[in-house]
Amino acid sequence: MRSRTAVVAGLVLVLLSAGCANGKPTSSSSSPLPYPPIPLVSATPSVAPTTPPPAKPARKPAARARIGPLNTQRMTGVRAVALTFDDGPHPRWTPKLLDQLRQAKVKATFCVLGVRVKSYPALVRRIVREGHTLCNHSWRHDLDLGSRSTGQIRADLRRTNQEIQRAVPGVRIPYYRQPGGRWTPAIVQVSRELGMKPLHWDVDPADWDDTSTPEISKRVAQQARPGSIVLLHDGGGDRSRTLGACPTVISSLKRKYGITRLR
Ligand SMILES: [Zn+2]
Repeated sequence: MRSRTAVVAGLVLVLLSAGCANGKPTSSSSSPLPYPPIPLVSATPSVAPTTPPPAKPARKPAARARIGPLNTQRMTGVRAVALTFDDGPHPRWTPKLLDQLRQAKVKATFCVLGVRVKSYPALVRRIVREGHTLCNHSWRHDLDLGSRSTGQIRADLRRTNQEIQRAVPGVRIPYYRQPGGRWTPAIVQVSRELGMKPLHWDVDPADWDDTSTPEISKRVAQQARPGSIVLLHDGGGDRSRTLGACPTVISSLKRKYGITRLR
């Protein structure tokens, strides 16, 4: 209390001396304080308005960050974040993940491989029946799709869509995600041509890379921000660590930002 009074007194002294500099001396420099301490404290409200207002959040960088490589989508466009699961469907991991999502009342996007869809069409039907969004992730995870001809790229994406449609007739496939995020202008163009928005991501905890369960949760928490699209995997290897991290990841993202479904 005493120290606060001293600070305020010092502040008023500065103001008083500023007044002197303006040619309106209020007291001689040698005289004691003209006011007792209590009025000095009450003088603080007149000082407060000169405090600069808090800086407004920087909007431009956030707007730029919504766009990923080659104008692909990497943010949701709203405060809520989105979950995406790649490389499935997988008979061991996908059902467990769907159980978790249903329990948390959360919708996600599944970026599926044509070969996997062909092997497990019932899992794709369950994904759709439970209200999740589908994303084409190429026929067999071709990282080098960009080096093929436009015709070959188109054939790969079409074949995958046809397999998805065979599993779930008439289902919408609003997104395409290039394996490894290795986008090329031709891949982006073909996916748009086939009615799919190119979908990138903003948060990648590298769950595919033997990352431990706590580390996956930690990385997502550290990287996530309003509107993030989070990349995780329900296929492509042992996903027990991802499945282990998901309850924490889902509940904390839901609490902090909300989780939205990409459409
Ligand atoms: Zn993938």
